[in-house]
Amino acid sequence: MSVDCGCFLMYYQKVKDKFLHFPLLHLRKEKTLNGMNCKTLSYFLLSLIVILSFGACVSKSISSKNNTEISSSNKEKPYLLLISLDGFRWDYVDRFKPKNLSKFIAGGVKAASLVPSFPSKTFPNHYTIATGMYPDHHLLLGNSFYNYETKKIYSMGNPAMVTDGRYYGGSPIWVQAGKAGLTTASFFFPGTEALIQNYRPNYFKQYDGSVKNETRVAQIVDWLKQPEEKRPQFISLYFSDMDDIGHRYGPNADSILNATLQKLDSTLGTLFTQIGSLSLPVNIVIVSDHGMSEVANEKQIPVELIEDDEKYLTINSGAILSLHPKDSTKTAEIISNLKKKEKHFKVYKTEETPEFEEVQTNKDWGTIQIVPEIGYYFSSQKSIASMNASTRKVSGVHGYDPTFKDMHGIFYASGPAFKKGFTLSSVKNIHIYPLMCKILGLEIPTNIDGRLQETEAVLKKK
Ligand code: AMP
Ligand code: ZN
Ligand code: ZN
Repeated sequence: MSVDCGCFLMYYQKVKDKFLHFPLLHLRKEKTLNGMNCKTLSYFLLSLIVILSFGACVSKSISSKNNTEISSSNKEKPYLLLISLDGFRWDYVDRFKPKNLSKFIAGGVKAASLVPSFPSKTFPNHYTIATGMYPDHHLLLGNSFYNYETKKIYSMGNPAMVTDGRYYGGSPIWVQAGKAGLTTASFFFPGTEALIQNYRPNYFKQYDGSVKNETRVAQIVDWLKQPEEKRPQFISLYFSDMDDIGHRYGPNADSILNATLQKLDSTLGTLFTQIGSLSLPVNIVIVSDHGMSEVANEKQIPVELIEDDEKYLTINSGAILSLHPKDSTKTAEIISNLKKKEKHFKVYKTEETPEFEEVQTNKDWGTIQIVPEIGYYFSSQKSIASMNASTRKVSGVHGYDPTFKDMHGIFYASGPAFKKGFTLSSVKNIHIYPLMCKILGLEIPTNIDGRLQETEAVLKKK
């Protein structure tokens, strides 16, 4: 309503200004037709215009309120909904042809695949998408990693750490939006629960994987239905279904993957329809953090083969082990001893590890990395025993070198900012952030790794 009043007052001022500059008013003393003088005539006309324009403003406000409860003058603000479908591999849409997602892509843009950053794990890659930085620069090196500042092992399963801003570098998109005065909201996304540079989404949820997808969707729609001054312009949403099922059965278990995907697709269909009915300019970007690859149980390598608590700390991320020697002068000796054990894995000095995109600068990696061959994976003896006890002979894993196509995820987008029916070649996930900044009209920080040129071809030319 305040906007409608503003609209009326602005219009009144415009009409008044225009009218007062109309030549007639400067000739006030001259007679006009019917003996009415110019001053009287001009006041009469001015009042008529004001009454008519006020009527028009009021009726516009009532009709838009009745339709969608959203005033029409807000439609110009851009909205961005970032949806993460954890572990959604680049080829799932072609393989399983989900109806709603396929329609969404046909009406918008897609990349052939979204290339994760190394290691292709959930937390570092969500946060790369959110910040436009490689893990080395945004600090969140893995789902778990050793942090020299806090002298603790960060773990995504530890709520005290997940909510601790000290672990999160860069300016994630919700922080960048908050700094610009935009309202933001999140129904899950790694990093959104922490206070980062004193910002957190205006509305956010503590992670709870058991919250039903329908509840998440209903909340997004409710947020968007709020009056303009409360309505978030940036929203994140997260679903773990494809990652959960991919881990359990592997990415080649077509029948169960298909069933899970069709259910998720129906939830997304509801979301798209409900957002469509709001008549708001909502841009929807759908991403995944990584893909999934099959590993046979007999190709699981027990991490205990490497661990040596007296000599070094071992952080196990499955597709990479990061070692922190207790005595740094012993690094070369440790490497040479471990190299003798090499079998389906390789031992490197951190700066010589080929999977990293750039030379690593972050101390938290440790000084030694051990990388299994693709198709092999480090797990504890206990979890290998439980895999062997199950009827399943394979499982799904990720974390490998981003150049391995199985690790690639998705980038799909649709909305008023995007072209229709456009395909971008495979693109690195560092380049999504500058695109989101552009859509929301935010300044792109200069210290990020991503570049707008890599993704902006998906945008409509203005
Ligand atoms: P990954 O082990 O890399 O496959 O991680 C996927 C898992 O991350 C999901 O199954 C969730 O349980 C977990 N997860 C996702 N988002 C969050 C979050 N915001 N806080 C804590 N855990 C999360
Ligand atoms: Zn993930
Ligand atoms: Zn996963």
